[in-house]
Amino acid sequence: MNVADTDMALGMLHRAGYGRTDEPARADLILLNTCAIREKAEERVFARVSMLAEEKARPGVVVGITGCMAEHLKEKILDRAPYVDLVIGPDGYRRLVEHVAEIQRERQGAILPKHRPGAGLKDTTLDRAETYEGLDAAREMTDGITGHITIQRGCDKFCTFCVVPYTRGRERGTPPREVLRQARALAAAGYKQVQLLGQTVNSYRHEDVTFADLLRAVARIDGLERIRFTSPYPLDFSDDVIQAIASDAKICKHVHLPLQSASDAVLARMRRGYTYAQFRGLVAALRGAMPDIAITTDLLVGFCDETEDEFQTILRAQEELRFDAAFMFVYSEREGTTAARKMPDTVPEDVKQRRLAEIIALQHKITGEIYGAQLGRRERVLIEGASKRNGAEFFGRTDAFRAVVVPAAPGVGPGAFVDVAIERATNATLFGRVARIA
Ligand code: SF4
Repeated sequence: MNVADTDMALGMLHRAGYGRTDEPARADLILLNTCAIREKAEERVFARVSMLAEEKARPGVVVGITGCMAEHLKEKILDRAPYVDLVIGPDGYRRLVEHVAEIQRERQGAILPKHRPGAGLKDTTLDRAETYEGLDAAREMTDGITGHITIQRGCDKFCTFCVVPYTRGRERGTPPREVLRQARALAAAGYKQVQLLGQTVNSYRHEDVTFADLLRAVARIDGLERIRFTSPYPLDFSDDVIQAIASDAKICKHVHLPLQSASDAVLARMRRGYTYAQFRGLVAALRGAMPDIAITTDLLVGFCDETEDEFQTILRAQEELRFDAAFMFVYSEREGTTAARKMPDTVPEDVKQRRLAEIIALQHKITGEIYGAQLGRRERVLIEGASKRNGAEFFGRTDAFRAVVVPAAPGVGPGAFVDVAIERATNATLFGRVARIA
């Protein structure tokens, strides 16, 4: 979602005459788009922004922090990093260019500052209606293969550990006309794949249009070959959505379904709204409708008062559900959440880290087994770009989102679909030879 927001901000800046550089020393405007989901990410932003302080020595340079950390910390950012000129939350991007121009006019003495004298400008008002309708991303700055469309902003679930409802505000769906406009524009620009984004993407509803309706409508657009979405909320996974995925070849057979914990007591403390049995039932329904579907997940260990027995349920769930892959984290308290206000963070750090190491080791083993079972199969792969490790190889993904590396060959390049015979696997990547250019 941050990538999509960054592309949208780049689009606005591009239309205002800015060009992009990745070298801070050449930039007139330096923006850090941030995440607040973990404290570590925020600390890293402060470290990065302090390194940018020297850029401020050049006349006219504007430094800004945007995104969830801006919303979460607001003026605390300006207190701790006084060289920051601009703090913009996730609902303030529409005014980004205007704010930069205002700062520049203040510096020239053309206007008096409207904000606290000597401090940066802050725009962190949440807006229940903002869906950024009409604002296109800077496509010339993306890979030209995968386009992101934010179909929903904010979240109404209020899981006790999570800061997102406070940083991104309440849930709202982008009107279907806007989603389809963006999807058609991506198809016309030659994009092959579109990813629909939302904090709880399958909770999407706009008037009487459901997520399943929207998925089907996007899949009908000529030119788009693969439709993905992330992240669905387990409780809102309707049979209609399962049917939509199962019945349309363009909708990829991969679902990222965050489990977090497999203990009903922990799930209740997290206020996730489902039990492990319900989650397992959903996995069975997905696999019943699509035997080859890949399911990935998020797992969180060390949540408040998590006992050893409660932790063990996660390991058992990994064995039972055999996720393709998982994002795995230790709980860290986030200011402003229900957990931070009411639930002491009781699990010692060394216990959290040991539990994390255990689930990572088990997941690596399971992923390795699943990837190993792909040997000998033929998979259609969308090539996304050159391999990072070896310039003589290309990298792409299967329909199930598994990473595949193939040797460079005529016709193999970014945006190409190729059929690959899988010949080797690690626990993160498949390797093969191109059997056919699709
Ligand atoms: S569903 Fe829960 S974890 Fe996900 S964004 Fe919303 S509050 Fe956070």
